[in-house]
Amino acid sequence: MNDDRLDILRLRRIDRLLYSVFITGCEAKIQMRVVRTFEATIANPRQVSDGLDQIGHAASKLWNVGRYYAGEQWDETGEIPDDGELKSELKGHERYTDLHSQPSQRVLEELAEAFNGWFGKRRNGDDRARPPGYRKRGDAHPRSSVSFKAAGFKHDAQFQRVRLSKGRNLKEHRSDFVLCEFELRPDVDLSEWSVQQVQAVYKYSEWRLHFVCRDTIDPEPSGDDTAGIDLGICNVVSLSFGGESILFPGNVLKEDEYYFSKEKAKCDDARSRKRLRIDQKRTERRKHFLHTLTKHIVAECSERGVGTIAVGDLGGIRDDENSDSRNWGKYGNLDLHGWAFDRFVQMLTYKAEAEGIDVEPVSERDTSKTCSACGHADDNQRVERGLYVCGKCDMAANADVNGAENIRMKVTPSPLQDRSTGWLAQPVVRLFDRTAGLFRHCSEAATNRNIPTR
Ligand SMILES: [Zn+2]
Repeated sequence: MNDDRLDILRLRRIDRLLYSVFITGCEAKIQMRVVRTFEATIANPRQVSDGLDQIGHAASKLWNVGRYYAGEQWDETGEIPDDGELKSELKGHERYTDLHSQPSQRVLEELAEAFNGWFGKRRNGDDRARPPGYRKRGDAHPRSSVSFKAAGFKHDAQFQRVRLSKGRNLKEHRSDFVLCEFELRPDVDLSEWSVQQVQAVYKYSEWRLHFVCRDTIDPEPSGDDTAGIDLGICNVVSLSFGGESILFPGNVLKEDEYYFSKEKAKCDDARSRKRLRIDQKRTERRKHFLHTLTKHIVAECSERGVGTIAVGDLGGIRDDENSDSRNWGKYGNLDLHGWAFDRFVQMLTYKAEAEGIDVEPVSERDTSKTCSACGHADDNQRVERGLYVCGKCDMAANADVNGAENIRMKVTPSPLQDRSTGWLAQPVVRLFDRTAGLFRHCSEAATNRNIPTR
């Protein structure tokens, strides 16, 4: 290549570089793609469970056909066919046409993935790993989960219905689809999302739907303020914005705990189906509570221009040599109430992420015994009936709000000054309204219950 030609190439490269800088300069906003799965219960199970059973059994049969074919190839050639080969070899098979082509392809892809997973484990020295097996229980076939991509389903967001296509062989005289009506958590609106995939999943002895959704979001936070969160039992979340505070009492969780353990006690057989359903219902209720709570918190933060949420990290307590038994007790109680700290942080993080807000875990060390107004820390600090009183500056605050504010200041230290402390003693309270499935502003009366006047 001569020098001229090289120069031209160099120039072109510079051109391209400039061009890309120019583009980046124009579109300063970075778009981010998020994928999320929402679970729905089926509202018309009696109409659709037979149809879904057929599809679920058919998926298991096709899996087994694929598994058998893979085994034969393996014996003959010493190699396992990949998903492309499985699909092209089996697409004429009767079991393949039991399902719509879309879910059939997916079943064979899953089988190929299962083989790959097994290879991976063997390669990493796991000798006990077994290749994927057959889906069979005696002579019966279990109900496999079935995935429908674009061509295999039709979603009607307005009426909360989805049509899942059947295969040629399973079509009955008129219908070539299963029409499922479904119910989602009240805080989920599928019309805000682009539904990529619908999965019929057999779980807890019933069919459910998983909606795999995608959205492009603009992760630009509305501001760069910091909020602080202290987690607890009485007040599940205490939120401080520095100048304003909100409490989220956990009374609903406690009521549930009481109710469900009483219901469980009524069951004679420890492993009965009824007991299982009670556990399942309790889990669902807790999950719903956490979803609504984290969504509400993110909305409140977004409204106030928060760019970072600092969360008191209970995990840190375990490494804290100076922690006293009270802290350990707090952690233990969280377990006892089934109040899943990790799950909360996880949900908060992905919901905040979608708004461009960072969630930062910070150590809880000293946050409960330090005065957020003057910074004075004292092991013998008086905390009575939820009230924190500073021995040095006499500030009186709601103890949980004081903790949340200290957590907030670990990320954004505020100069210690004569801060107006009314908001520290008078947090706003949001109560969970179970019927509506949301948090409501609560009247003064309830607020004052936690804060005795002096
Ligand atoms: Zn003080």
